Amino acid sequence: MSENHPIAPHGGTLVDLLADEAKASALAGEAANLPKIVPNERELSDLEMLAVGALSPLTGFQGEADYHSVLDSMHLTNGLAWAIPVVLGVDEAQAHQLGGGGSVALLPTEGAAPIAVLRVTGAFKRDKAKEAVAVYRTDDEAHPGVKAVYDSGEYCLAGDLEVISLPAHDDFQSYRMTPGETRAEFTRRGWKTVVGFQTRNPIHRAHEYIQKCALEIVDGLLVHPLMGATKSDDVPPDVRMQCYEALFEGYYPKDRAMVSIFPAAMRYAGPREAIWHAICRKNYGCTHFIVGRDHAGVGTYYGTYDAQKIFEEFEEGELGITTLNFEHSFWCESCEGMASPKTCPHGEETRISLSGTKVREMLRNGERPPQEFSRPEVADILIAAMQGEG
Ligand SMILES: [Zn+2]
Repeated sequence: MSENHPIAPHGGTLVDLLADEAKASALAGEAANLPKIVPNERELSDLEMLAVGALSPLTGFQGEADYHSVLDSMHLTNGLAWAIPVVLGVDEAQAHQLGGGGSVALLPTEGAAPIAVLRVTGAFKRDKAKEAVAVYRTDDEAHPGVKAVYDSGEYCLAGDLEVISLPAHDDFQSYRMTPGETRAEFTRRGWKTVVGFQTRNPIHRAHEYIQKCALEIVDGLLVHPLMGATKSDDVPPDVRMQCYEALFEGYYPKDRAMVSIFPAAMRYAGPREAIWHAICRKNYGCTHFIVGRDHAGVGTYYGTYDAQKIFEEFEEGELGITTLNFEHSFWCESCEGMASPKTCPHGEETRISLSGTKVREMLRNGERPPQEFSRPEVADILIAAMQGEG
């Protein structure tokens, strides 16, 4: 990372758990003879995030004290803000067998070569009901985040990680930048202030507008699409990437905006996930972070502005990244431009606003939404993808 970058990583040090070549080779040799665990998709994503420092200052899967501290108070035991536990689930037998200490090899899939060694510091029983209510504000198993908690092991294995290699990806190689790399890129571009935008959806005019409003007050924009696990009904990553590329090609200044991948798995934890997303983006070098309505929400579990309000529960400056709260935006015929309820005095009848359901229906029928809603290039990609689905 650059020494002169204006924003420090969370906790002050950018973590890098990836071993150098010699060390990786020694770890691989050691791992061959260790007990082995295959983490689930979400945990593998967390492993990658930990390895590259996206979850700085964490250096491994959290132990019981931090787990409860995060659930109870949104802080680590050392007092640092932290919103969502990062844990490795195991079953009871594994917890008894491995929890006493020693090391465990982590494998991306059954029978694959180990990608990391966990130096075990302990095991503990996961309080799923408490975790669900604290993080997701519900214990309803219809909530995808809650379901993931209940589907995982009854125990957690804690300890520091030493990483042999990152989980392999066969897509988007040129977009996969570590926090160290995005920081270096920001410096290279001369950006002192950078706003991060989290998304797991194609970008329509409303979000383009929000990003550009934010860009007006900072040096650069990082569109940082989450490409880890999402719900099966979210738009697939390759389709989303095509949309981002078309949008950047046609409508974004190349020296002021960039796209890179956020390898996190989606939790759908709404407010708590907004905090988590902001802290991660600080680690990637962003000084500002956009929080829209219903950030990281799903269904009707969270209030429209909960994800913006939760930031007020922290001390001034505690999170170290500035959040920019945005309203729902739309094209207004009378304003003759993009606007929001904050800036447009006109009524609903002059605003071009479509429900997600309506947009999906239009796209499925091969119909472009109005260009005031969606850029035609983006609409065409989505239409092609939806028709390909049959
Ligand atoms: Zn208006």
